[in-house]
Amino acid sequence: MYYSWFLPSILVYLILVLIISAFANRRKIGRLKVFFISLFFTPLMGFVIYKLSQPSYLQNFTRYRCPECVVDFTEPHKDCPLCRKKGQHTRLIVVKYAGI
Ligand SMILES: [Zn+2]
Repeated sequence: MYYSWFLPSILVYLILVLIISAFANRRKIGRLKVFFISLFFTPLMGFVIYKLSQPSYLQNFTRYRCPECVVDFTEPHKDCPLCRKKGQHTRLIVVKYAGI
């Protein structure tokens, strides 16, 4: 009866480690690193590392789309080069993507 608190506290510890490492899936540091940090340096330390890590969806990029021929360009142009060959002048629309 002396060690009756020992097994439940280990279970709570492991559950906390699993919860924090599951949250870290959407961070740059990744789930596996946070799992081991939480396991060996307490879940509180893992939570701090998880909070300090950058989100993994930082791949923002911009495209310039022609509304006439629906082609995306990576470089900004004054007007669409494809439409210019046909003799038309079409302004490009700025499209911003936030990928994961
Ligand atoms: Zn065009």
